[in-house]
Amino acid sequence: MNRVVWDAYEEFRCIAEKCPDSCCKGWIVDVDDASADYYRSLEGPLGDRLRQVLKTEDGASFMELENDRCPMWREDKLCRIQAQLGHDALCKVCREYPRLIMDYGDFAEWGVELSCPEAARLIFRGVTAKTQSVPGAEPAEYDREWMELLQTGRQRILEFWTQTELDVPQALAVTLLYAYCLQQTPEGESAPPVDAEHLLQTARSCAGAAQLQPMLDFFLQQEILTREWEDRLRRPDPGSWDPRLRHLAQYLIRRYWLQSVWDYDLTSRAKFIVAACILVNSLGGDPVRTAQLFAKEIENDPDNRDAILDAAYSHPAFTDANLLGLLLK
Ligand code: SF4
Repeated sequence: MNRVVWDAYEEFRCIAEKCPDSCCKGWIVDVDDASADYYRSLEGPLGDRLRQVLKTEDGASFMELENDRCPMWREDKLCRIQAQLGHDALCKVCREYPRLIMDYGDFAEWGVELSCPEAARLIFRGVTAKTQSVPGAEPAEYDREWMELLQTGRQRILEFWTQTELDVPQALAVTLLYAYCLQQTPEGESAPPVDAEHLLQTARSCAGAAQLQPMLDFFLQQEILTREWEDRLRRPDPGSWDPRLRHLAQYLIRRYWLQSVWDYDLTSRAKFIVAACILVNSLGGDPVRTAQLFAKEIENDPDNRDAILDAAYSHPAFTDANLLGLLLK
């Protein structure tokens, strides 16, 4: 099988106590059954503490947060389990995060999550990927023709992003319109080239009056993890587009474009990508930090992520006219 590996996956190393945020803060850590059994079997003070903080609900084990932090997090910002028992003793989610495997059966893509500050730093350097051939594969359970169209289309739009002289919002408008083209490509036909000039012209003719407030209201109605995120949504600071946001767009394209293979809905993924970039730009601040916060609040919360995909066709924030208006106003 083929494995597509991002350079960020290979280069990532946790910066532990130097991390400006932490995956041990704010999130409830789900503990896999094997690790939970092992933790409960440990003797001594560490085992006593683990038996005290490890909870089980509906058959699933998790660490109960204390002061909004994992109870195993020490004052020196290191994990007590890792410090005493080593990395291999961590539960599955802590061993793997922020490494990300997008598995399609007969091939897989290995990347990293933007919600980790160190991974975000690598993503904002620009992601490249290389393909490795490895033994073993599960059968593909997707529509091969649709996957081929998505893969070729993604390759074309990523090439466009690396070559274009358009600014970030214009390139996002082209991306949205190109997703519509792919979505409407008749069965049996191959992915069209990216005709940026024509797509941008069409995008300009579809752009309506730009309204940011419906988008802010939408995100304020979703699940919110941190006070900082709520404050940022209440006090946006939109400015001119930082060119580094092109790395955010390309990360989102790499991560979400092929996910449409499961439900045939590329358009809502493209709207998600565009809306994410508009929101990060509109909230202002350092784009790497704002994007990382966006990922922690939205990308890593399946309910929030699904809410955007569900709202893509119905909510006033995500109409083509509004998104294109916000990009091209
Ligand atoms: S968020 Fe990333 S860098 Fe920070 S502690 Fe977790 S894995 Fe390490």
